[in-house]
Amino acid sequence: MILIDGKLTSQIIKEEIANSVATIKKKNGKIPHLAAIIVGEDPASKIYVNHKVKACAQVGFNSTLIELPIDITEEQLLDELEILNKDTDIDGFIVQLPLPDHIDEQKVIMAVNPKKDIDGFHPVNIGKMTLELPGILPATPYGILELLERYKIEPSGKHVVVVGRSHIVGRPISILLSQKRETGNATVTLAHSRTKNLKEITLQADILVAAIGKANFITADMVKNDVIIIDVGTNSIPDTSRKSGHRLVGDVDFERVSKKASYITPVPGGVGPMTIAMLLKNTLTAAQKKEA
Ligand code: NDP
Repeated sequence: MILIDGKLTSQIIKEEIANSVATIKKKNGKIPHLAAIIVGEDPASKIYVNHKVKACAQVGFNSTLIELPIDITEEQLLDELEILNKDTDIDGFIVQLPLPDHIDEQKVIMAVNPKKDIDGFHPVNIGKMTLELPGILPATPYGILELLERYKIEPSGKHVVVVGRSHIVGRPISILLSQKRETGNATVTLAHSRTKNLKEITLQADILVAAIGKANFITADMVKNDVIIIDVGTNSIPDTSRKSGHRLVGDVDFERVSKKASYITPVPGGVGPMTIAMLLKNTLTAAQKKEA
């Protein structure tokens, strides 16, 4: 079994980005600038957004963190977005999800200038991705493509089973891997909560992408020998042996499934760090396109 090390791979990508920033600096060019908006005090969201800001410093980007109160109105938030859309120094920005219930997430995603949409969630970018046009790829699926590519795993001709059909992970990765592209050409099955006989389907997977959000949902009896596992899930479960009282696990029962798998991503240290690395890559690309 080969462990697909997302932590290490993300560090390599960050070094590549840092080298590009050094070149930009040498030429007295504009340093890429990422902004992040967070609404409210949700501890998990704060951790995620702080990771992103810290990663900017690691690669030499400028970053701005905008912390807004939980009771901000939708209109006020949209005004903040408009300021970032217009700010020529900001190359890309994210709005940390989830947002409070009184704010329409879709409206917020739609309000981001697609050129600055480094999460790759805007319909323009999803449309471009679907039509195989150059645009910004959603960060998590982009990270999965990078992992497959850098570990020389060729999806071509393989049966990929994606479990989960969210707009940010399951749906886009199913589209990307089915496309006529270098890390693509797979035969893809997209499964979800209404799928019947899920186990019959997952047992056919050469590559299984789990994006469900349920701890240890994919068990060893659901996969065949030598399966390649990409575990996107990040689930916090109670663990009294930890100081924090909890630990992170994926959607896949790593302990048992890893014994059957040929390749597997761990949680933590698999897809998660790649998402941040690709967010930085998207920011660099957005900055370079602006300069071009
Ligand atoms: P969503 O909740 O948006 O989607 C979950 C999907 O799983 C849905 O399509 C749902 O089906 C499907 N599902 C739920 N239960 C079952 C079931 N019993 N059988 C089959 N399918 C089922 O989640 P996300 O895609 O946003 O996230 C998935 C996981 O990935 C989460 O743990 C999240 O934290 C993690 N994540 C990790 C990232 C990273 O960087 N590592 C980035 C983004 C997410 P239906 O559509 O029918 O409801």
